[in-house]
Amino acid sequence: MVPSPSIVGVAGHAPRIVLARFLIYHTDKALQVKGSRGPRNVSKKSLPQLKRVLWDVFSLYIRQRDTDEDGCGNCISCGKTLEIGTKDCQAGHYIPKGRGGSHYLGLPRFPNDELAERNVNLQCAACNLVEGGNFLNYEKGLRHKYSDEATDELKEAGAVNPIFKRLKPDLIEIIEHYKSLLA
Ligand SMILES: [Zn+2]
Repeated sequence: MVPSPSIVGVAGHAPRIVLARFLIYHTDKALQVKGSRGPRNVSKKSLPQLKRVLWDVFSLYIRQRDTDEDGCGNCISCGKTLEIGTKDCQAGHYIPKGRGGSHYLGLPRFPNDELAERNVNLQCAACNLVEGGNFLNYEKGLRHKYSDEATDELKEAGAVNPIFKRLKPDLIEIIEHYKSLLA
């Protein structure tokens, strides 16, 4: 039996690596079906369950992408310094999930996968939750971080509002994809 890694017990490692190990362990556990092993059994999980697991993995991927080796980065909207592993350090959508900005849409099979990742960035809790995304400053942050062209491309993609139905095998594929990218 593999013991559950403890955050405290992995002293000496950068917080991002500790978090990744912790999450990978819990992701594998969450995908496991009682009394059985193997990916086929994942079909017994509900779509909301899989979406939750996917968000855990994807949002850590984004928080790692947007922080340095010490786990520090800046809120895309207000610039506040954030430390990975704290409640303030979140991953926030530019195009909201309800308007086609879901992180699990179009990944990883569509040619513009990058857009889905560009749509989610490091954000402080206040901007992400309280101020409805701090929308105008989010856009400014995007233009600074990527480019005007990349930001306009994202806005256009949001305006189209495509609805893709993601099936369980798709979600599993995306979960595994992002899990493999975690440090
Ligand atoms: Zn902020």
